[in-house]
Amino acid sequence: RIVVVGSANLDLVVTAPQLPRPGETVLGDGFRTVPGGKGANQAVAAARAGAYCEFLGAVGTDEFGVQLRDNLVAAGIDVRGLRTVNGPSGVALITVDHAAENCIVVAPGANASLTSLDDADRNAIAGADVLLLQLEVPLVAVTRAAERARAAGTTVVLNAAPARPLPPELLDLVDVLVVNEHEAAVVAGVCTDESAELLDTLVTLVPQVVLTLGARGAAYADRDGARLDVPAPTIDAVDTTAAGDAFTGALAVALAERGGLTADTATPVLRWACAAGAACATRPGASTALPERTAVDALFAA
Ligand code: ADP
Repeated sequence: RIVVVGSANLDLVVTAPQLPRPGETVLGDGFRTVPGGKGANQAVAAARAGAYCEFLGAVGTDEFGVQLRDNLVAAGIDVRGLRTVNGPSGVALITVDHAAENCIVVAPGANASLTSLDDADRNAIAGADVLLLQLEVPLVAVTRAAERARAAGTTVVLNAAPARPLPPELLDLVDVLVVNEHEAAVVAGVCTDESAELLDTLVTLVPQVVLTLGARGAAYADRDGARLDVPAPTIDAVDTTAAGDAFTGALAVALAERGGLTADTATPVLRWACAAGAACATRPGASTALPERTAVDALFAA
């Protein structure tokens, strides 16, 4: 059982020959809406990877809020803790040019209203194996959720995305930190792309660190001195958008199933999470590309 406290956004995606400059208007050639937000994406990833998943978050009273809720329900996610708050839902305005370069503005909308937890939220967190967090909702909600999890013995997994420096009162509540190289450098407060150096610094802040390395897979470090490199399956990458969300959602599922991450289980757990990230990268699109468990298992076994 996994509880996600996080964001839900509707991605409004326009493709255009080139990105507009300030003051410029360009004619686009395609438009689509896709459910997104790191919280919702990771909840969907966890549900598709086979877990019972509950999403605590907020959508607005607009039509987008209905779409976002329906999308979570369709993925089989428990949405009892999904609030509908007055005002707009979170949106991401995304322009993509023909070279796949993009330009993104996120308006948090209803996500910004998530500043406290109620009794039902606290009970859900206490009853979960894993609490999965990101940084697209107010830090106060992330911290309150982590406090509740720590008190109840629920494993706290924090995906520190979007990257930002984190206060010690939150880091002290994290069991497993999941970061890509950019996020690792920002959280560690160092300027290096040496993954060994990043891991050395991060394990002084949290007990267990998982570093994702794109096509190179993932690395793991813990406070007891364990260090591990796990390769990603070799695939033909079509679109790596949401690969990190697929990885993190699957990692949470594996942790829930195995009761945490130990030096013994780290290799198969990370290999499976890498298979999820890689499976996502073989398909176009973001949340629509998040893989089912069978696809993850197939790539894991390959
Ligand atoms: P983010 O998208 O958050 O920056 P990464 O790019 O590190 O995250 O990707 C997350 C995971 O997805 C990687 O650890 C890896 O397992 C998988 N992945 C991403 N890109 C590829 C690729 N080109 N080939 C194989 N696996 C990939």
